[in-house]
Amino acid sequence: MTKKLCLLIFIIFMALLLPGMAIAEQNGAKSPARDAEHHAGKKAGKAGKKTGKASPSRKKKSGKVSGKKSAKTAKLKKALPRDPEKAAPFALVKELRHWSNPDYTRIAVALDREAKFEFHRLPRNEELQSSPRLYIDISGAKIAPGVKDITIGDGLLKKARIAQFSSGTVRVVLDLDSMKDYKVFTFSDPFSIIIDAKGDRQTEITRAREPGISTLPATAAIKPLPAVEKTRETARPAIGKIRRIVVDAGHGGHDPGALGAGGSREKDVVLQIALRLARKLKEELGLDVVLTRSTDVFIELKERTAIANQVGADLFVSIHANAALSRNTNGIETYYLNLAKTEKVAQLAAQENGTTLEKVSLLQAVLFDLMANYKLNDSAHLADEVQKAVYHRVAAKYSGVKNLGVKQGPFYVLVGATMPSILVETAFLSNEKEEARLKDPAYQECTAEGVLDGIREYIASLK
Ligand SMILES: [Zn+2]
Repeated sequence: MTKKLCLLIFIIFMALLLPGMAIAEQNGAKSPARDAEHHAGKKAGKAGKKTGKASPSRKKKSGKVSGKKSAKTAKLKKALPRDPEKAAPFALVKELRHWSNPDYTRIAVALDREAKFEFHRLPRNEELQSSPRLYIDISGAKIAPGVKDITIGDGLLKKARIAQFSSGTVRVVLDLDSMKDYKVFTFSDPFSIIIDAKGDRQTEITRAREPGISTLPATAAIKPLPAVEKTRETARPAIGKIRRIVVDAGHGGHDPGALGAGGSREKDVVLQIALRLARKLKEELGLDVVLTRSTDVFIELKERTAIANQVGADLFVSIHANAALSRNTNGIETYYLNLAKTEKVAQLAAQENGTTLEKVSLLQAVLFDLMANYKLNDSAHLADEVQKAVYHRVAAKYSGVKNLGVKQGPFYVLVGATMPSILVETAFLSNEKEEARLKDPAYQECTAEGVLDGIREYIASLK
């Protein structure tokens, strides 16, 4: 009787338990993707989210994991046909790179399209003697051939490792050294997940002070810089504290920037102004000038500040032409990096960042913390001098020019620059009169003169 009862209880117990186990396993399999849904786009910077699962803390090296993962993999595959993008369901991770700067280290994971991701921070595991880690799971993604782990060893981070964690999830693991704080945000075109790591590094990273890209820190893992044209003035001593300046012509290549009704493209007119400005800075102020581009090529926004950081630039000036919905809007305005104060500015930032208003507000959420590193006061000062000088020059020669003043905005191209950096909106391509001017070499020259004057004033004020 007791035996029978025991057996019956056992059978009932198993009957109840087994389906439960199956459900638990299914949940386990689905949760990474679901979790990503929930957390993608969440406010970045929340450190140490614990999943409570064993797998994230496991060392990723692992063919070991694959056996256990296969059941989950099969289920993920089954789930795929429901994906709306049936033809190519996976985003491809095309690049894993890093830049070691004096103030921070940047990691960029570039994909061929937008993908959801989540990130977690893990403390040092005493048992496994593993370093603290930060890892990012990118869902619906595969690794493109040739994308490999990178050794960083700059005192903040040791390594960045990348692996196909499951059939649809790519995991990037950063082995931390002295990193204390970090920010995660995204860039568009190409979609990139950016991790900026800060901390008190032991190893000293100095900016390259000597001319020449070849003298950059060995740890910086620098790709050959595309379209960087260096012009150097050796006959004249550089002025005071400012020796090297990066002049950035906005947009280029497949990104035309703003388009005028008369057919002008921002990328063309701003290149002309930038080339003129570069020549003047070299000839008249004796500065080292690095152009982010000197031809019609596409350069990623994150690449532009990376160039400035890599060459140890003292100033960064990005040249643009504006566009507004109203064709009557015209004038000159200069920006430095900060949160947008008005909807209009947020709209312009979305335009210049090649992204949406929603993305701009996500960037703003992390910007607030990121900005502690940036030379905001110096940038505001530089913006002030340049805005005044450009307006002064242009208004002296042309009628009806408006001084729209110095403003603040969340521009990707300025994020991560470790030197005073500004973005000049020289005139509105959406305004008929200003479009005609922007195309005119005399106007381009005049604007370049104005920016030069502003930089000269800024340098003079530092003494
Ligand atoms: Zn632009």
